[in-house]
Amino acid sequence: MEFNPFQRRFRKGVKKVALVYPNRYVGGIANVGLQRIYAELNDFAICERFYSDVFNGLRSLESGTPLSEFDVALFSLQYEMDYFKAIEILKKSGFRGLKIAGGPCVMENPKPLLGFFDAFFIGEVEGRLEEIFYVRSPEELSGIEGFYTGKEEKVKRVYSRLGKHLEKEIIGEGAYGRCFLVEIGRGCVRKCSFCLVRQIYAPPRWRKIEDLPFPEEVKKVALIAPSPTDHPSFKEILQLFVEKGFEVSPSSLRADNLDEETLELLKMANVKTLTLAPETASQELSEFLRKDISPEELRNVVEICSDKFEKLKLYYMIGLPGESFEDVLKIVYQAKEMKNFIPRIEISVNPLVPKPHTPLQWLSFGGEGGLEKLRMKIEILERECVKFGIEFSKPDLKEFILQAILARGDESVSGLLEGENFRKYTRFLEAIEIEKELPWDFIDHGYKKQRLAEEFEKLIERVEKI
Ligand code: SF4
Repeated sequence: MEFNPFQRRFRKGVKKVALVYPNRYVGGIANVGLQRIYAELNDFAICERFYSDVFNGLRSLESGTPLSEFDVALFSLQYEMDYFKAIEILKKSGFRGLKIAGGPCVMENPKPLLGFFDAFFIGEVEGRLEEIFYVRSPEELSGIEGFYTGKEEKVKRVYSRLGKHLEKEIIGEGAYGRCFLVEIGRGCVRKCSFCLVRQIYAPPRWRKIEDLPFPEEVKKVALIAPSPTDHPSFKEILQLFVEKGFEVSPSSLRADNLDEETLELLKMANVKTLTLAPETASQELSEFLRKDISPEELRNVVEICSDKFEKLKLYYMIGLPGESFEDVLKIVYQAKEMKNFIPRIEISVNPLVPKPHTPLQWLSFGGEGGLEKLRMKIEILERECVKFGIEFSKPDLKEFILQAILARGDESVSGLLEGENFRKYTRFLEAIEIEKELPWDFIDHGYKKQRLAEEFEKLIERVEKI
């Protein structure tokens, strides 16, 4: 059962906006950006939500109204794999209004979706919805800051200031449980070489303590930021919520800034699973990824919290350049070592997708040896994890291949979205020549391509020395 303080009834003459999340409710309701958009739209229009697992995405959750009866559809694209469902919803619904897409995938590279939407919003849309709302055609959107309709040569990504937090939110059973989402920061101060977030949400911004809400509806909050523990007042924020009797669930944690006091506070906040992302167990590859968490730092953190958490979840990546089978086995050895401190361990291992706008954008997908070796590495990991009683969350390799093609593709990839075999598009998995123009070059995220290329060359030089 949802608590929804924003829902409005349809009225003649008031525009109807569909907010479509082409994935499951549990993820959509846990998205703080969608909460803000929904609240803002319901200030001056009527906005209802669509999720892939509610009426198959074809009718709104609030009133069961068909998508085709809405004037505008705003699609939030958080993952490349959501493109398939988004297109299915558009086709099956017979929607004829204005179709706009936004979200991190659009900020990354909207080219594969050009034939399916009227316009794309590149950036953070909060505070700008009313301005674009009265627009009637895609032509009118062209020229408005942040919009891409396929004709613009350059689009500068827009971002917002982090002011006062929403005081009210829809409360539903989401990925963090039934809780209030508290966004404490946006963007990231770190420089991990594979990370899209640090590029598309730059500059890093922190919300001040006095702008944070202390909700009355629930006694649980999720602290949202790409790297919440980097907030200069993270400990203070955690303590404040704990003192007020809240359960707290941080969206992610970094091992290198967790001291004993923070870990104790997390335990008091009822955090049961400690989730960390070392990404690799090899010191050299960690330097390549600029993750800057050494195996020693990880061990130290896990050692001091052995009595505080029931489970440890570790995230890793494979398919890195210069990565050997021995490097992959190190993941299992590291997890096995951590088992001495927290007996229940789960590892999640995903292939690296060299994302647009990151210094790794020119890399091939899969690492040396390509897909065949990648498949073997996954099999080895699965076998070894069973041997040592480590829970293993196995990646679906085909999904990652599709993700890489859609992230790096151009308009020609639209066929893949209409059912063509991915083998026709494997050229988008290959390494890219550094001089080549890229489909996403038209987006200005504020970095210089030349600087990114220099960063890439230095990282590759380092790998070659391994
Ligand atoms: S991976 Fe995490 S810590 Fe690294 S830059 Fe991205 S958001 Fe920041």
